[in-house]
This record gives sequence, C-alpha cells and structure tokens, in this order.
Amino acid sequence: MIIHLKENIDKVSANNIAKEVSGRLIFDEKKFIIITSSKNKEVPEKIREKIDESFIIDSDIQLSSRKYINKTRNIKINKIELGGSTKNTLMITGPCSIESKDQIEKCAELLKSNGLTTLRAGCFKPRTSPYSFQGLGLEGLKMLSDIRNKYGFNIISEVKDASHVDDVIEYTDIIQIGAKAMYDHGILRETGRQRKPVLLKRGFGSNLQEFVQAAEFILSEGNPNVMLCERGIRTFETKTRFTLDLCGVSFLKEHTNLPIILDTSHAMGYSYGVPDLTRACVAMGIDGLLIESHPNPSEAKSDASQQLNFDEFNKMFESLRPICNAVNRNLI
Ligand code: PEP
Ligand code: MN
Repeated sequence: MIIHLKENIDKVSANNIAKEVSGRLIFDEKKFIIITSSKNKEVPEKIREKIDESFIIDSDIQLSSRKYINKTRNIKINKIELGGSTKNTLMITGPCSIESKDQIEKCAELLKSNGLTTLRAGCFKPRTSPYSFQGLGLEGLKMLSDIRNKYGFNIISEVKDASHVDDVIEYTDIIQIGAKAMYDHGILRETGRQRKPVLLKRGFGSNLQEFVQAAEFILSEGNPNVMLCERGIRTFETKTRFTLDLCGVSFLKEHTNLPIILDTSHAMGYSYGVPDLTRACVAMGIDGLLIESHPNPSEAKSDASQQLNFDEFNKMFESLRPICNAVNRNLI
C-alpha cells in the first residue's frame, strides 16, 4: 500500500506514522509518502485523518506500478528528457569498456557526428573470469569526465560492487547497475539515496517480478529516476548469448511506469544480429537503446564479438529513423 500523507505533516510525525505501519518513508517534492507491504489492504483507523490519498496495490511492484502513476515517469538527464510526454527514444552508445584516451575520443567523435548526447563505457567490469581485463577503474572514470567536459555529453558507466559506487555517482550522469549486480541491495539502496538517474539492468536469471522489485529498492529510498533495461535472459538456447525478452518488454510497458531501455548487444552477443534486433525493439515504441560500438571491435578488451564498428553503427542508426517516425517516436 502507498500512503500519501497530508502536506502539513512534519518529518517527526511522518516518521512516527511510518513506524506505526512498518512502512518506508520518502519525501516527494511537497509531501511524505509511506510504502508498506502490498499485503496491507486497509489504512489503519488511527492514521486515517493524517492521510491525503492511499493506493492499494496487489503486488510489491508498487511505486513503479501503473496503478500508482498511470504514465511513464519523466526523467531529466541534464539537457535531455525521457518518458513523460516526450516520446523520445534515446540512443546510448559507446564501447563495452573504456580502454584508452584515443579509443574513447574516437567513440566521442562517432556520437558527435550523429548528433548524439549520451556516451556509455564501462570502467569497473563484472567479468566472468578473474584473469580477463577488469576495466580501467577510477582512471577510466576520470577520462570519461574529461570527455564530458570537452563534448558536453551525458556519461553512463556501471557500478559492479559497493567499493566504487560513490565514484561512479560522482563521475557519471547516469549510473548503470549491471545484470550481475541487480540483486546487490547495497548498490540499489545507495543509488536510491541520491537523485541521479539509474539504469537498472535485468539479471539474466531473474523473472519480471524480481526485476521490477529490484527497481523498487531504488525508488523506495527516494530516487524517482529509474530506468529498466532488458538485456536478455538465459534460456536453453546456446546459439545466441542470451534471449531478448520482448514479451517481457510488453509486460513492462503495460504494467510499469518506468522508462524502458533495450540492450540488444548483450542479448545477441554477435554484432551480425544487433541491427535487426534493434529495429525490432524500436518498432515497439521504447524509451531508449544501449548499443555497444567500438572503433575496432575485434581488438576490444571485452565483448569483442558483439560491438558494432562505426560503419555498422552509422548504417543501423540511419535505418532507425523511419521506424521511429512510424511509431511516433523522436530518435535522439
Ligand atoms: C555492459 O553493459 O557492458 C555489461 C556488462 O552488461 P550486463 O550487466 O548486461 O552484462
Ligand atoms: Mn559489454
């Protein structure tokens, strides 16, 4: 249950009421909001006079539910906006990992030549093997920050564990929580205690309820700026890296109020399938895309097989415009 307290209720009283109903308390612009378990179906008699509105919701998909806010939330990322009434589809691109100044500068030029605004690059890489490239860490974040200063881009980079969550918050404009970190409550809560946008990737072994409930951890700490990213789940299929769950995307569009970003690169695992899959995603009317691109994919230090070279990226990007127009979306 979500309870909106009356605007004149002060923080001490709001805290007391939250304790009384065993709920989480957040402050949303003008009012305090309490979120309790969805098992609670009735506002207790003794607090009724202190509340403005209440929402009974049938599962713990609550703050992210359309039954609470019946539209896609609006998210501002510096000069750009997603969701709300914008109809924007944001193209986020860049390499899997930042590898050098020269590499990231070339990627920045790719964005600039296409009029794009949002550069991705991982610095703390959640690799499957401890012996492979682990990312440039803080040094990489500082290089990304220089790129932001030079080009004015938004920067997105991922948090892998709690040891560097503050650094990623400081140096980026969007914080990415990777598939393997989706269940890390330390990261979820800490990114929820600040207000920079968070892109939460779906754990490849998690169902939709678990995925959206992970987003609830961030929202229920008070950060309303959360985006959901479908990046493929593990199925019995081994010919592709993962299986992109577009049925799940339909579910998320219908039932949640969070902007939805599609990562076709990690789902497919091979560059040859990325353009077709991306076109299919755009046709669904989504809020954004996350596509890995690299000046020389075969030499990439991570995810070499799935990154698009710049020619492939440019060709794919141009092909998206008519599809966006057909579904009434602006490609930005
Ligand atoms: C990435 O974006 O490079 C990445 C590691 O993604 P995921 O967490 O989806 O595997
Ligand atoms: Mn990657």
